[in-house]
Amino acid sequence: MIDLDKFRDPAVAAKLVKRIEALCDGPAAFMEVCGTHTMAISQFGIRGLIPKSIKLLSGPGCPVCVTALSDIDRMIAISGQKDVIFTTFGDMIRVPGSHSSLREAKSQGADIRILYSPLDAIQIATENPQRQVVFAGVGFETTSPTIIATMLEAKEKGIGNFSVYPAFKTVPHALKAILESGRTRIDGFLCPGHVSAIIGSKPYQFIPAKYQIPCVIAGFEPLDILESIVMLLEQIRAHKKDGSTFSVQTEYRRGVPDAGNPHALSIIDKVMMPCTAEWRAIGNIPETGLCFREEYSSFDASKRFQVEVPPAIEPQGCICGQVMMGLHQPDECPMFGKKCTPESPVGPCMVSSEGACAAWYKYGTRN
Ligand code: SF4
Ligand code: SF4
Repeated sequence: MIDLDKFRDPAVAAKLVKRIEALCDGPAAFMEVCGTHTMAISQFGIRGLIPKSIKLLSGPGCPVCVTALSDIDRMIAISGQKDVIFTTFGDMIRVPGSHSSLREAKSQGADIRILYSPLDAIQIATENPQRQVVFAGVGFETTSPTIIATMLEAKEKGIGNFSVYPAFKTVPHALKAILESGRTRIDGFLCPGHVSAIIGSKPYQFIPAKYQIPCVIAGFEPLDILESIVMLLEQIRAHKKDGSTFSVQTEYRRGVPDAGNPHALSIIDKVMMPCTAEWRAIGNIPETGLCFREEYSSFDASKRFQVEVPPAIEPQGCICGQVMMGLHQPDECPMFGKKCTPESPVGPCMVSSEGACAAWYKYGTRN
């Protein structure tokens, strides 16, 4: 059991803030690429503690927020097919699609169930042999191994009425796409802790090598985040002083082995292979999706149910895509807190418990 107070000690936080102030010698923009970081930064008021010249930007770090609208529309269409039981983790159900949401589809009679574990979908499939059970495959490298392991179990048990709608995303190449877009100033990345526990530190190494930007894999407690900001600033200071090269460092050592989790990686690799994925409001990014290998394609719900959906329509005025690219902060959206609230969300960033707009709304905007 980890003693969380150790990572929330105000006296240590004050020392780290002093160190940040001493190291900060100009504007810097750091992007956190994890919804839990976004939440922690807002919850613990970290923006208000550090110098104003350091901007913390939320990246595409929430798997629910980045699920393409067209995928949500297709999931809703699948949930409406005859004899389908559609299963998903909780947040997905509230995300607005082009015309409705899974929640609305449920209220109109679709059999949509919220699960805490994908394994429960196997149980439902076993109990309902005449029906098709579909699980919404949404998540980054953290979540995908568990869902994929469920498929392996279904295969082993010969369960034929279970499939997964593949909307998985992988993180490293998304960061590349943000950097290549050249639209966002980024001086360093706070890389996601849980994702990195699976993939390790190596997949980010192209970032310092090619783009001359430091990366720090950060934990989720306030002292983790402050310490990670110190580490980014120290790299920048050393580079300015003597041209030291940037690197990927791990602050979250208690959670991230350098090599990640080879077992989880092998599960992903066994069943899926990299492919282009569509990110909501961002567009297609090569090598950031996971598609089924031929051997497992019978589990692919997007093939099993070939639903036709009209072209997706983004909600008018929602700037989620720009928020996830670090181009705008949530309160710069004209609908923030007015037309768009967690009770009545317009875009996914206000729906998800890890969304940037939800974090700013819940904990106050500039804290
Ligand atoms: S799954 Fe973990 S690492 Fe990924 S966004 Fe969520 S909290 Fe962050
Ligand atoms: S406040 Fe609402 S409408 Fe605006 S970007 Fe966020 S989710 Fe979209």
